[in-house]
Amino acid sequence: MSFHLTQVLTDHGCFSKYLHRIEKKADTTCFMCGMDDEDDAYHTLRECPMWDTQRLDMRKKLNLARDFTLGDVIDNIMTSRES
Ligand SMILES: [Zn+2]
Repeated sequence: MSFHLTQVLTDHGCFSKYLHRIEKKADTTCFMCGMDDEDDAYHTLRECPMWDTQRLDMRKKLNLARDFTLGDVIDNIMTSRES
């Protein structure tokens, strides 16, 4: 379990939605793409265009479907040490 994986799994980390909730950031705008959508783990994992390259790489490495979910990622990484 890494620092960044913990942030994604808990949705508590450097996500604007969380930082806004604990009054550490004025709004929920994404740091990376500036979209007005709420920046949370889902946005980072599935929607943020700034993570497209990393998302595609992860999908290939984990052999995930195009419409993968966070649950699919967890299921996959739990199946082998390599994943
Ligand atoms: Zn974004």
